[in-house]
Amino acid sequence: MSRVLIVGAGGVGQVVAHKCAQVPEVFTEIMLASRTKEKCDKIAAQLPRPIQTAKLDADNVAETVALINEFKPDLLLNVALPYQDLHLMDACLETGVHYMDTANYEPLDEAKFEYKWQWAYQDRFKEKGLMALMGSGFDPGVTNVFCAHAAKHHFDEIHELDIIDCNAGDHGQAFATNFNPEINIREITQRGRYWERGEWVETDPLSWSMTYDFPEGIGPKKCFLLYHEELESLVLHLKGLKRARFWMTFSDQYLTHLKVLENIGMTRIDEIDYKGQKIAPIQFLKAVLPDPGSLGPLTKGRTCIGCLMKGVKDGKEKTVYVYNICDHEACYEEVGSQAVSYTTGVPAMIGAMMMLTGTWMEAGVKHMEQFDPDPFMDALNRHGLPWKEVVS
Ligand code: NDP
Repeated sequence: MSRVLIVGAGGVGQVVAHKCAQVPEVFTEIMLASRTKEKCDKIAAQLPRPIQTAKLDADNVAETVALINEFKPDLLLNVALPYQDLHLMDACLETGVHYMDTANYEPLDEAKFEYKWQWAYQDRFKEKGLMALMGSGFDPGVTNVFCAHAAKHHFDEIHELDIIDCNAGDHGQAFATNFNPEINIREITQRGRYWERGEWVETDPLSWSMTYDFPEGIGPKKCFLLYHEELESLVLHLKGLKRARFWMTFSDQYLTHLKVLENIGMTRIDEIDYKGQKIAPIQFLKAVLPDPGSLGPLTKGRTCIGCLMKGVKDGKEKTVYVYNICDHEACYEEVGSQAVSYTTGVPAMIGAMMMLTGTWMEAGVKHMEQFDPDPFMDALNRHGLPWKEVVS
């Protein structure tokens, strides 16, 4: 019996609303609030049971506090944009409500993916007896839980970790991103970074690649090394780790378009003056690119995201690959969104469920790998993201 306030009615918000509505025994009352109320109402109209909707500017703490005081949720589930994280955490502290999100805070004028801003809330959440769960999407999120699962069931120590994210889907567009274009392009165009022997090593953007042979007929694909936020907490929490890297697949067509956009300045995040008006080129680019939500009915194929880990158990070397494969068209049929939104929204619902049922509940700013992975792994199998593992 609990009340959840979902903030953000984009691609991920749509999946979260559907998935929470499917579990009435946990999410008794649901409110979906976002900047554009019509988007909330459109999602609400697709659901099997009634939910409340509201207009909310999540950057306005007083507005969020007022909405929380009116609806009285037990948990605020943030699937708006990373820029809103701190404002929503402030509102939760002020009203005594638990918090969770799927992406770490990022300042608008600086593409920096770091937990330092949210870790600074540690003492305040602890003092109030509230929990803030960081990054309960797929990556970050399920990838952290896959690591915790392997650490618990397969290894004494994990020495090498490669998180490999493959979208083998096709939406038929010349160039489009599968989630918020601004966040996606900021992430990909920044310098790469991985962790080795206690230090971060930087690489030029998209300068390192490997070919990985994905399972179940997906086959070999070129993957590029990126920095990804879950590495920052995993290197703190995985015992004995010597190297941690993150890889993502991109098609040649995607990379060629991105290079051109970068070369002509369209991915810049600083503001320029246009006819007396200040605009950030990347925000203008977002406005002309296809809305990721519109890709749902067009996308075919599968995603495959997993963790490849090498380490030791009882003195013997061991390799474990834990992964999920998700079909774009099956997701669209179930919740009206493609697999990238689905693979984020399902773990967001499960993270909220873990907290609201008290399965994962501890005051403070917490990461997914700090909790028992078993109930989360079971829930993945039950709620649409079954996983497999290959042990050798
Ligand atoms: P969208 O851009 O589709 O949706 C974002 C939503 O947030 C929109 O409804 C938008 O409103 C709303 N919003 C933006 N600013 C505000 C504000 N100030 N107040 C209230 N609402 C606001 O993004 P996605 O759904 O694709 O992504 C949602 C989140 O999920 C992002 O933080 C993204 O980084 C994260 N993500 C995490 C992944 C993971 O695996 N961990 C993977 C993919 C995404 P409007 O419609 O009016 O613009």
